[in-house]
Amino acid sequence: MARVPSIPAWSVALAAWLVAAPAWGFCRSTTCDPRKADCLRDEEGCKLTGLPLAWRTGCPGLSLSPRGTRNVDAAEVERVLSASMASWSALSCGEPGAASFAWARLAPSSCGVGYRRELPNANVLLFRDDAWPHPGAENTLAFTTVTYDVATGEILDSDTEVNAAQNPLTTGDVGVKFDLQSILTHELGHALGLSHSADPTATMYATYDRGATSLRTLTPDDVDAVCEAYPPDRGAPCLPTPANGFSADCTESAPPDDGGGCALGHGSPTPPACVACLALLLVASRGRRRGRHA
Ligand SMILES: [Zn+2]
Repeated sequence: MARVPSIPAWSVALAAWLVAAPAWGFCRSTTCDPRKADCLRDEEGCKLTGLPLAWRTGCPGLSLSPRGTRNVDAAEVERVLSASMASWSALSCGEPGAASFAWARLAPSSCGVGYRRELPNANVLLFRDDAWPHPGAENTLAFTTVTYDVATGEILDSDTEVNAAQNPLTTGDVGVKFDLQSILTHELGHALGLSHSADPTATMYATYDRGATSLRTLTPDDVDAVCEAYPPDRGAPCLPTPANGFSADCTESAPPDDGGGCALGHGSPTPPACVACLALLLVASRGRRRGRHA
């Protein structure tokens, strides 16, 4: 006969859960596209429907655009990018061991933003020095575009653009304006499949105070998110090269039926893909400029 907990036992369990549950926490991006469906969300705006996004590989490869940025020395960009990548890599999940995720570095690539089905790709970081191609140029710091398989949630490609045309980026610990390492660390969290956390101390929190460097350092909430998305026992091999191969310039020809974006792959062996875009926005707050990620 199945055992059914008595009412007092349920009460104790519920009370313990209510005490233990955090008031806020991390949130993962999912396949539910609010442009196409009503996505069920919790009270903090975290999507409850759709499959959570994650890379299948244990170490997706990132490429820096060879153009760099004229606003920050190339060696400094290298140092800051490496530090931001390391922040999310091989995190300790406690007793089970390290998370089965680490960013890998690939050769520079001048590919633009987006994913090309059946063709080589690159996950790029690029700087927009002259003009910002998205809405909200005045209050946008960065923008990450994630392309994923709508059937499985597998991330196929991620590209991050930094708005260096509008914002004075800095990399040091003094005279900080818009801290590049904070921006990149946050955006790399989006690139690995995380949405915004309701924890105001987290790197993945939706706002950034001008002059702050705190987003450089992950909090336990950020670590919990990675450990859920990439548990130590996942058994994922380290395959940094994109599934269709790596491209240094994305000049290869597209097949005639390539629909790109959210088009369904009729007759194609590759899965349909969709795009999630997450931007880092600035809003005025008490005389300071704060960053908010939409
Ligand atoms: Zn964001």
